[in-house]
Amino acid sequence: MALIAIRDLTRIYELDAGRVVALDRVSLDIEDGELIAVMGPSGSGKSTLMNLIGCLDRPTTGAYRLRGVAVETLSANGLAALRNREIGFVFQQFNLLPRMDALGNVELPMVYAGIDRRRRREKALAALGRVGLAERAHHRPMQLSGGQQQRVAIARALVNAPSLLLADEPTGALDSRTAIDILALFQELNREGVTVVLVTHDADVARHARRVVRFRDGRIVDDLRQAPLDARDAVHARIAEAAE
Ligand code: ADP
Ligand code: MG
Repeated sequence: MALIAIRDLTRIYELDAGRVVALDRVSLDIEDGELIAVMGPSGSGKSTLMNLIGCLDRPTTGAYRLRGVAVETLSANGLAALRNREIGFVFQQFNLLPRMDALGNVELPMVYAGIDRRRRREKALAALGRVGLAERAHHRPMQLSGGQQQRVAIARALVNAPSLLLADEPTGALDSRTAIDILALFQELNREGVTVVLVTHDADVARHARRVVRFRDGRIVDDLRQAPLDARDAVHARIAEAAE
């Protein structure tokens, strides 16, 4: 069974100025364990697709099954529960709460999931360790670099052990070196079994995915597999260069 099975998914936004067909009869299967890049120009429907996959929005027509569950049949509560269990989100702008330290930010999804305080702390520290930020647990977002903030956001996305990570332009606000580090982290998580869907407009980022789906005007125009670059190679080359 595919992790994600999308059939003829259409999303139309009704505006005073008229209707916008953001997604136009899209069909797509994503299997457990994939690392897939979604590419396409601005306005081509990438974020609309991510919102639907992430159960943050409902399609106008069409069917979406997440791990066999017909998402359109779920109530708002059922949707939220499925989302909490299966999905972690990462965004371009990190979306961290500025008044909370890294630990507090990572604990947040567990507050909603009703996990007790001690267990929350344990799991949040473990998640921060997993992204290499154990030493920064008590720093606030403003006291962290962009790459570190994105790592905190990734730790937050991972803390309920989701099977699917949805990342919408996660390297869009980062310089290219930091972007490579974040890509290396996504690849590592993917090797550990997390399915990753990565929206990007950057071809260099997409080279790190095994599969690349391209959108134009709300439709899939290309779906190809490739031998991905290993981000660790670039990281190691940089470390070797710095040591010379
Ligand atoms: P992308 O992420 O590829 O840039 P989007 O999915 O954000 O594209 O947008 C696809 C189309 O839908 C665009 O024409 C955009 O203007 C429109 N759109 C996106 N979100 C909304 C919304 N909430 N209301 C109205 N139109 C929207
Ligand atoms: Mg977008």
